[in-house]
Amino acid sequence: MSRKEVDLFVIGAGSGGVRAARIAAQHGARVMMAEEFRTGGTCVIRGCVPKKLFVYASRYAHELEDMAGFGWQVGEARFDWPTLIENKNREIARLEGIYKRNAEAAGVEQVASRAVVTGPNTVRIEATGEEIQARYILVATGGRPSLGPDIPGRELAITSNEFFDLPRFPKRVLIQGTGYIGLEFACLLRGLGAEVFLASRSGHVLRGFDEEVRTHVLAEVEASGIQMVKGVSFSRIDATADGGRRVTFSDDSTLEVDAVLLAIGRVPNAQGLGLAEAGVALDKVGAVVVDEYSRSSVPSIYAVGDVTNRVNLTPVAIREGHAFADTVFGNKPWVVDHSLIATAVFCEPEVGTVGLSEEAARHRGHEVDIYKSAFRPLKAALSGRQSRMFMKLVVDAKSDRVLGCHIIGEAAGEMIQLAAIALGMGATKADFDRTVAVHPTAAEELVTMRTRAN
Ligand code: NDP
Repeated sequence: MSRKEVDLFVIGAGSGGVRAARIAAQHGARVMMAEEFRTGGTCVIRGCVPKKLFVYASRYAHELEDMAGFGWQVGEARFDWPTLIENKNREIARLEGIYKRNAEAAGVEQVASRAVVTGPNTVRIEATGEEIQARYILVATGGRPSLGPDIPGRELAITSNEFFDLPRFPKRVLIQGTGYIGLEFACLLRGLGAEVFLASRSGHVLRGFDEEVRTHVLAEVEASGIQMVKGVSFSRIDATADGGRRVTFSDDSTLEVDAVLLAIGRVPNAQGLGLAEAGVALDKVGAVVVDEYSRSSVPSIYAVGDVTNRVNLTPVAIREGHAFADTVFGNKPWVVDHSLIATAVFCEPEVGTVGLSEEAARHRGHEVDIYKSAFRPLKAALSGRQSRMFMKLVVDAKSDRVLGCHIIGEAAGEMIQLAAIALGMGATKADFDRTVAVHPTAAEELVTMRTRAN
């Protein structure tokens, strides 16, 4: 086989692409993978990983506040943004190196260039103009932040792409959007000491989550000092003389801040790749339409991850990439089950959720029993922190099966991972009840909720 012919050409070296490339190569395929930015994709370079590091940084502020009640006295604490950025950059570079080395060790040929599809079995490497013949092409190009309506001065705002490399800590920030990213960034910035304004056209947070979870989170967010700007959208953004930004809202009010951050959703990166020209069907938001095996309308072209706009989460992309490689190159066909995917929002307090919200369960025709608990955790007894934890089980009244589990509070993300195993196995409320509590923990509430709340 000459160099210009491969079994698989992967476009995009993010979570999904790298996993697919490695597994395909391990199955004996000759694999080439092109990446125009940095290996690791959004998650590693400018998403989940740096975000979580910044969340850890922000939580030291809470620890510093909480420790006095336990007898600790510390001197004046000072946060240094450049130190965090520098250390984060070092860790990201290390992870990027691991991604590259793992792909290399599996025998994947890596190309640092944009690549575009030129036909059902051909790809052009933009840096060299070289045309590669590929039995299969995998599109794993992810997504990018949506910029929303084209208002005057929109280019003066930043997105999550720029946030992690801001040269100076923004002391006053306006964030638009109250989904995963808006909330996480608002809370971590607040923890780091910024004055934070959070603009929401609906006036609420976390659309699609259980209503009680939304209400609890909104109350906690407001109690933390984050200032909600409700029911307005942005009309324009102007630069101020001191390098700041002035935002004019739809009701003509204005707000001056150091930085404006747009967190209003993400769009699939499927444009300009030659996909439509090659006959690949895209949906109305521009995502690649795929079947359960991640195969597009062109049989030799597959797509995984955010570019397909199924469930836009890193572990899902990884799994889709793995399933694709096993199916096409390993003679082991399998499909990803997109139901019951647990997720966490690393806001403050953290949210962990798996399965159906109460509203979704009712909407699907379930008669439901609700069990819930809101309480101050033991640590708060001495720390004095007012924040409350919240736990809720949505149970099918007929079968007793637990349909949804929702947790707000410290380590909710860790807890929900384990709850997801139980729900995935079809656990009933009786299974939860006969599980002996681990004491004293917050998680024990999950197995001690005896009284129906509805
Ligand atoms: P989300 O879809 O979660 O939330 C979008 C937010 O933007 C909503 O609050 C929505 O408001 C608002 N919005 C949308 N369009 C407009 C507009 N034109 N004007 C004003 N507000 C608008 O998107 P995110 O950007 O927060 O995150 C993108 C995706 O990334 C997530 O859905 C998730 O898949 C993934 N992600 C996952 C994380 C995790 O697992 N922890 C972390 C970060 C990202 P409204 O409610 O009114 O519709």
